[in-house]
Amino acid sequence: MDRRHIFPTYAPPAIQFERGEGVRLWDDAGQEYLDFISGISVNTLGHAHPDLVKALEAQSRKLWHLSNMFDVPGQSELAQRYCHLTFADRIFFANSGAEAVECALKTARRYHFEKGDESRIEIIGFDGAFHGRTYATINAAGNPAYLKGFGPALPGYKKLPFSDMDAFQSALSEKTAAVIIEPVQGEGGLRPVSPENLNLMRQLCNDAGALLIYDEVQCGAGRTGKLFAHEWAENAAPDLMATAKGVGGGFPLGMCFATEEVAQYMVPGTHGTTYGGNALAMAVGHAVLDHLEKPEFLSHVQKIAKQLREGFETIQSECAGTIEEVRGKGLLIGAKLSVPNIEVRNAARDAGLLIGVAGDNVVRLAPALNVSCEDVAEALSRIRSALELVKSKQSASEQA
Ligand SMILES: *Cc1c(COP(=O)(O)O)cnc(C)c1O
Repeated sequence: MDRRHIFPTYAPPAIQFERGEGVRLWDDAGQEYLDFISGISVNTLGHAHPDLVKALEAQSRKLWHLSNMFDVPGQSELAQRYCHLTFADRIFFANSGAEAVECALKTARRYHFEKGDESRIEIIGFDGAFHGRTYATINAAGNPAYLKGFGPALPGYKKLPFSDMDAFQSALSEKTAAVIIEPVQGEGGLRPVSPENLNLMRQLCNDAGALLIYDEVQCGAGRTGKLFAHEWAENAAPDLMATAKGVGGGFPLGMCFATEEVAQYMVPGTHGTTYGGNALAMAVGHAVLDHLEKPEFLSHVQKIAKQLREGFETIQSECAGTIEEVRGKGLLIGAKLSVPNIEVRNAARDAGLLIGVAGDNVVRLAPALNVSCEDVAEALSRIRSALELVKSKQSASEQA
């Protein structure tokens, strides 16, 4: 593994994965791993799903790319399908989560501009948020570590404590363009926003004339057992929503969903992308949605999520001093640990289980949504062993 000519932004472990199938990955030595992180909530149907392979292969023989200067095959149909299933009237296709969020932020500011309210530029975000790595998205999330060294913070971004509805209410003003929030915080430590708070935020945004943006890049695409996570709240439909990751099942695809009211102003010349929503992405996007839109697919997610949550709770009660709190929603699940999360992630990997970490000393799981009960049981047993190993090492070193 000679990474000398790659930007040193990542430091992966010395494993060379070669092949995947379902929730399994194999390295070049033939070692098998259970993949319970799925490229961070991306491989919705696991690796090499036959329907996705078929869709991509078939499209690859017809047409790859046109750019959006022509009508791209599959776009109208995929937009129509998603709009039919959600609050949205229109969709902008992009390649990634950050681009989908950028589109939402630009659309929000443009809306107020077109309404003659040019001073409404403020975007309110929350502690622990993650919205991507572009300039606008690092400013929207306001994580100091991600802003450091990249020049002055952009004007018009404000950050509030997570879940503090009083602070939220007083922060809204005639300057607020939009509020951006993940219905379930991913990177920030798997923190769901309660349905009551989402409903309340919707109401307060309406009263203040501010737009509500959801970042469902990680928690969308069926991950919580609803097509989109905010659907767990009854009266909390947003004006704009960014999604990506899982909707492409491993092919780069981002989408910005919008109501007609806000999308109407994004006319030719206001925004664009070369690759966004190309024909290959559309073919895969349709094949992923063929699965996501089935009620029995989402009820499977809910069933498996219950099994995982209960499994974590059992470990919490039986292995003292390992799990502080079970976290997350649906199959974006994990735990805040009492032992170091990175050590547990590494011990799990040594035991053939791939999991992730998140802020607040959390271990994060995001398996393929079609994972079986048997594979979940095996993963839970490997997590338990990893936790016990790290715990016993810690106890040994404390005694020494
Ligand atoms: C991953 C992620 C993003 C950024 O997506 P990219 O595809 O990496 O640009 C934005 N928001 C959330 C909530 C994410 O988890």
